[in-house]
Amino acid sequence: MTGGGAAAGDGGPPPRIDLHAHTTASDGSLAPRELVALAAAHGVTHLAVTDHDTTAGLAEAAAAAQDLGITLVPGIELSTEADGISTDILGYFVDPAAPALQAVLARIRTVRQTRVVTMVERLRELGAPITLDDVYAFAGADTAIARPHVARALVAAGFVDDVPDAFRRYIGRHGPAYAERYKLTAPEACRLVRAAGGVPVVAHPTPPNDPLSDPKRLRTYLPPLVEAGLGGLECYYPGYPRKVNRWLEALAWHFRLVPTGGTDYHGAWRASPPPGGVDVPPDTVARLWAARR
Ligand SMILES: [Zn+2]
Repeated sequence: MTGGGAAAGDGGPPPRIDLHAHTTASDGSLAPRELVALAAAHGVTHLAVTDHDTTAGLAEAAAAAQDLGITLVPGIELSTEADGISTDILGYFVDPAAPALQAVLARIRTVRQTRVVTMVERLRELGAPITLDDVYAFAGADTAIARPHVARALVAAGFVDDVPDAFRRYIGRHGPAYAERYKLTAPEACRLVRAAGGVPVVAHPTPPNDPLSDPKRLRTYLPPLVEAGLGGLECYYPGYPRKVNRWLEALAWHFRLVPTGGTDYHGAWRASPPPGGVDVPPDTVARLWAARR
């Protein structure tokens, strides 16, 4: 892995950074190699692959990045929940071989599988003509199985109109076929990322309708995470108005966190800008690299 060298240097083009993207290892539509190629085609010089709860896509992405002469930042995105607040924690420069990380990821995957079994059972009771095999047909061997795979099986069976319809009517948070997932708390996720040598960062802190979409709430929410090793705050994200970028930057400054950003690119399965389509400050990768302990 690189020394985080963010500067393209030598009069080359300025770095174009995207620190948030998904592959088929979780719920993206492109294989790691395809994602890296697309990012390179869009002028991205530094790309983080941040699949949900798995590092399975990182080796292929790193090889592709090396072939194409761009920098891969190894990453992960961990789903957490506590007190009714869901927070995604990104981890940058994690060592995929760290035993503590892989032990927790294995546990999360097991629970994900059980959860999908439960959801399929509930859906069948509701009349959906799908089986577990139908769901797995939409996931690769190393994929962290998740609700989007269930949704696609429902679409293929003609039981719902499209993926959003599946979430709205059946498998969304309050849907009749929803099943709980394994819950890591946000501070636990931060400590886990640190234990794997990485830098934890709060992802997209202000989705619409989220209780944290308020500077005051976020200001009181962050200290326990900072205590647990939080190193950054995702300040640049698709759809964030400039005003939101500014108050997130101010919070990052206050807590000495690195302001990060990315597109959260998922490919064909979710509308988003192309890789590199969100402006991220050119020194961000170097600052994250320096924030490792
Ligand atoms: Zn994401």
